Amino acid sequence: MLFPTTNAGSLPKPEWLAEPNMLWAPWKSEGAELARAKRDATLLAVKLQEDASVDIVTDGEMARQHFVHGFLANIDGIDFAHKVEMGIRNDRYKAMVPQVVAPVRLKGRVHADEARAARAHTKNKLKFTLPGPMTLIDTIADKHYGDRVKMAFAFAELLNEEARALQADGVDVIQFDEPAFNVYMDQVRDWGIKALERAAQGLTCATAVHICYGYGIKANTDWKKTLGNEWRQYEETFPAIAASSIQQVAVECRNSRVPLELLGLLKGKVIQAGVIDVATDEVETPEDVVTTIEAVMKHVPKDKIVATTNCGMAPMHRDIAEAKLQALGAGAKLARTRLG
Ligand code: ZN
Repeated sequence: MLFPTTNAGSLPKPEWLAEPNMLWAPWKSEGAELARAKRDATLLAVKLQEDASVDIVTDGEMARQHFVHGFLANIDGIDFAHKVEMGIRNDRYKAMVPQVVAPVRLKGRVHADEARAARAHTKNKLKFTLPGPMTLIDTIADKHYGDRVKMAFAFAELLNEEARALQADGVDVIQFDEPAFNVYMDQVRDWGIKALERAAQGLTCATAVHICYGYGIKANTDWKKTLGNEWRQYEETFPAIAASSIQQVAVECRNSRVPLELLGLLKGKVIQAGVIDVATDEVETPEDVVTTIEAVMKHVPKDKIVATTNCGMAPMHRDIAEAKLQALGAGAKLARTRLG
C-alpha cells in the first residue's frame, strides 16, 4: 500500500493524566493510580489513531513526561533531585535538567508497560520512539563524563538495550528522535550518526531517525524566523545520514522552508514526510495532504513515502490534534486514489 500513515510520536495527554497543552506537564496522580492512567491513555491513543486510519501507530508517548527525560526515568547514575538550569539546543531555550553524576546503567526496562499495552491492543504496525544519543546528552547536565562524545556513547548503549527489548515486545519500527541534528552540524558528521548507529545496532525491525525543527512552541517558532527563507541546514548532513544504516528519515515538509529537493540527498531511504504542521491550529484538509505528498513525490519514489506529522503533537489541544490525525488518514487515502 502506498503512503502508509504514522505520526511523529507524541499526542496530547488527556487532562485526567497530566496538565494539558504544555511540555513537561505534571502528572495528575501517582503510584499505581498513575500507572493505570498511563495505560488507559495509551489504549485511547492507539484507538484514536486506528479510527483516524493511521497505519503505523504509536503509544502517543502517554507514559512519559518528556520525550528525553522519559527515557532517563529508570537509569542509575542520574540525579533527578538536584536539577540545574541549562541552555539546550545551543542555548535556544533554558530548561531545568537532571545531572549525570556516575556511570549510567539501566536499572531495568524503561518502556515495557506502554509498549506491551499498545501491542496487545492493536493489530496495526507499532512504532516506538526513543531520544537519539545526541539529543539526549544535549538535554542533561554532565557532572561525570566530562566529554560529550563519551557520554553520548554511554547512553547509546543503554538506548540499544531498551530498543532490542522493545523489538522483542513486538515493536515494528524503532524511531530515534534527533532534533539536535539540525543544530550541531559538524558533530552530527563527526560522531552523531555513529552514536545513532550504536543505539540501533543489531536491530532487525525497521529503524528511523526523526530530525526536526521542534514542537510548535514559541522558542522554536522564534528561532525558525532567524533561519532565513530556505532552510538548507540538512544539505550538510543528509549525505552522511544517507550513508548510514538507519532505514527511514522523518522530515517536516508541510509549511516548511526545507527545500524539498534536499530529500533527493537521502537516496534509498524511506522518507517519513511531515504532511501535517504542528505549529498551527489550522487543520489541514485532505487536499492539503495530497498537495504535500505530490510535492515530495518529485524527489522521492512514491513507494518510499510514509505520511506523518511534522513533529510531536504533545503540547496541542486534543480536539485539534485529533482533527489533524483525521486529515492525515483521509489525505493519504485520497493520495492513493489520485497518485497511486
Ligand atoms: Zn520533532
